[in-house]
Amino acid sequence: MMYILEKKKLNKILSTWAQEHEVFVPQKVEEYSQFLPYTEDSELALKSPHNTRYPPKALFLPQSEVMLKFNNRTQKYEEVNTTPKSRLVFGVRPCDAKAFRLLDTVFDAEDYADPYWKAKRDATILIGIGCEVPPSTCFCTTVGGGPFNQDGLDAILTELEGSYLVQILTEKAETLFASLSPATIEQEKQVEAIQTKAHDSMSPAFETDGLKQKLDQIFESSYWDKISESCLGCGICTFLCPTCFCFDIVDEVQRKERVRNWDTCMFRIYSQEASGHNPRPTRRERTRQRLMHKYSYWLDHIDEIGCTGCGRCVRYCPVGLDIRAMLRTANTHESEAVHA
Ligand code: SF4
Ligand code: SF4
Repeated sequence: MMYILEKKKLNKILSTWAQEHEVFVPQKVEEYSQFLPYTEDSELALKSPHNTRYPPKALFLPQSEVMLKFNNRTQKYEEVNTTPKSRLVFGVRPCDAKAFRLLDTVFDAEDYADPYWKAKRDATILIGIGCEVPPSTCFCTTVGGGPFNQDGLDAILTELEGSYLVQILTEKAETLFASLSPATIEQEKQVEAIQTKAHDSMSPAFETDGLKQKLDQIFESSYWDKISESCLGCGICTFLCPTCFCFDIVDEVQRKERVRNWDTCMFRIYSQEASGHNPRPTRRERTRQRLMHKYSYWLDHIDEIGCTGCGRCVRYCPVGLDIRAMLRTANTHESEAVHA
């Protein structure tokens, strides 16, 4: 089913949903943007910047999350309530929705389900918005996605003049838009053309056929020295990445809480072992881990690339390191003698 949501009615529909759900929308926060709870004063950032700088993975895997509290009186740990109220996230880009689905294979796998992640995922409806003019830093089509990819979404919007066409994708979203007028055949055709044009405007950023094999082959080569030379080890590329999920669990003794915090394999100390040995002592090994994880190890685990081409690491790396260029270089790197 397809409906027409007039832009002037957007705030009204968000307010209606907010009576039953905790609604999150992309909002401008000083110079950046992130998903925050909707209020009538919210300044929606649906267009600019394109997708939020701060990734919506934080809605399910918060940057810092209390897992347990210690009760001084009983001298016991107490569980925290992990089941949120029903939630609705509006304005998710297809690359980020795909990232949730990829992260489900980590946090909601057959043999292990993380209750903190799962409770939030189960309670959330995802309404996406496609990208009619994909920015030059995005490369979703190269990695199996697309600017109107429906993977992981319950409904997706396409922007028209003065309105959005809403495509319902799952039962979860069916009743949300039922009060709106259905789209006309002409509007449906217009949307099809917009979606095809957006998809076709994106040229392949690098060759993915044989890339995993190539990366495996050059694991010990000088390629990694070359591409990691200017990396500062700041971790921005991984903190902002929607599919990166490294974390650390610490007991905050003063607060009497056990907390899970985002961490990153781009930090030296992340891999440091208790003996003092570090299997990733330099940025060479850490950069290798970042790329190998996304373009080789994910393929070993689930036969999918672990990067959705969202472009954040390209846009926000302070020294302009571009994963697309790194992978193009990998493809052309001559295999050589094993690194000493
Ligand atoms: S954002 Fe750039 S400089 Fe910072 S760790 Fe990532 S690749 Fe290195
Ligand atoms: S590696 Fe870069 S482009 Fe790929 S999903 Fe992560 S931040 Fe986005």
